Amino acid sequence: MPTFPPAGAVDTLPTDLTPIWEEQCDDLHAVAAMGGFQAFINAKVMEDPSLAHAFMSHGRRVCCIDERITDGDGIRIPGSGILMQENDLLDSLHYAGVSSVTSHTRCGAVRASLLSQLQLTNPNTTAAMITEDQVEEAAKHFAKDLACKLNVPYEGHLAFDGEGMTGPSDVHIARMTFYDGTNSLNTTLLQHILPPAFVVSRNFHPLREAQRAVEVSFNIALHSGFGARITEDEPFFVVAVARSEAQREKLCDELAPLLRKHGALMRCDSIVSPTLAFSPDLEDLPEMDDIDSSQIDEPQE
Ligand SMILES: [Zn+2]
Repeated sequence: MPTFPPAGAVDTLPTDLTPIWEEQCDDLHAVAAMGGFQAFINAKVMEDPSLAHAFMSHGRRVCCIDERITDGDGIRIPGSGILMQENDLLDSLHYAGVSSVTSHTRCGAVRASLLSQLQLTNPNTTAAMITEDQVEEAAKHFAKDLACKLNVPYEGHLAFDGEGMTGPSDVHIARMTFYDGTNSLNTTLLQHILPPAFVVSRNFHPLREAQRAVEVSFNIALHSGFGARITEDEPFFVVAVARSEAQREKLCDELAPLLRKHGALMRCDSIVSPTLAFSPDLEDLPEMDDIDSSQIDEPQE
C-alpha cells in the first residue's frame, strides 16, 4: 500500500482547516440527527426533486477520486488508474464505455506511484526528493498514454486556476468517500447539501482494486488532510450508494474488511438511490453492475 506524503512545498500560506472541519462536522451531525444518509437524502430529494439527478448521471470520463475535482461525474479511480496494473485497468475500462480521460494537479495517487517507481531503482528515494513538476508531468503522461490506449480523447489536466478543481490546493478537505455501485452518481449536484467527498466507482474495478481505492481515500484524509481530527467520535465515513437493497447489502459486505482493519476511525453508511421512487421505469434497465460479474472478487477477509 503506497503511503501518501504531504503535498510538498506550497507557495501560499497553509490552509486553515479548522473552520472547514467545523462546518463539515455540523453538516454530518445534521445527517446523523436525521437517522443517517438514507433518511437525509430521501428528505432532501422530497424537498427538491431535482436532486435526484445526482443519482442519474451517464458520465463516462475517467478521472481521479479527488474530492476537489469540480465535475463529480464519471468513472472515478485514484490517479485515473495509475496505481492499478495496466492489464486490469484496460480490461475494466474497456467494458465501461469510456468517453475521455483526465489528469489533475497535485494528485496524491500519482505522487505515491512515482515514489514507488523511483524506489525500485533507488531504495533511498524519499517523498521530499520528488518535485511538484515531476508529479505534474507524470500525471499528464499517464493520462495521455491511457487515453491513447483506450482510443478516446485526453480531456486535459484539471487545475485550481481553471474550472477543473476547487478548494485548497495544498491540502485535502474530504472526510467521506462515496462507494458508488450505481455507475450514476454525480456529486456535483450534492455539493450544496453535503461536504466534499472522494468518489470510488465500484463497478469498473475488480473488487480488490475498489477496496484499495477506498483505502487510498482514507489514507489521503489521514496523511494529507484532516489527519488527527479524524477520531472515533468524528470518524471518516464510507457511504455505499446502491441501486437496490440487495446491492446495498453486497456493497456493505465488501466494505466490512476495511471497517475491521480501521476500527472506529472509519464508519460505513449506505444509500439506495432515490431515483427509483421518481422514475420507476428505471428499475427495468439492465444494471451495468453485470458488466464485470466474472471479474468481481469475493470480499476479502
Ligand atoms: Zn488524484
